[in-house]
Amino acid sequence: MEEILNNSNIEYFALGRPLTCEPDLVNRWASGDTKEPRCVSCNKCYYTPGKRCILNLR
Ligand code: SF4
Repeated sequence: MEEILNNSNIEYFALGRPLTCEPDLVNRWASGDTKEPRCVSCNKCYYTPGKRCILNLR
């Protein structure tokens, strides 16, 4: 992300849904696990009580 920010016209990234899915995502990346976020951009969290990720509902 830093490389993209420094080498393109992109000024920011939106992480709302990825952080809804994985609240600890930034810490995971900082720890060296840089796999893509689990969020699949399905938008179903918009329709759940409390706007929760369906991957985390039990
Ligand atoms: S419900 Fe879908 S879009 Fe929303 S956070 Fe979860 S995976 Fe991402």
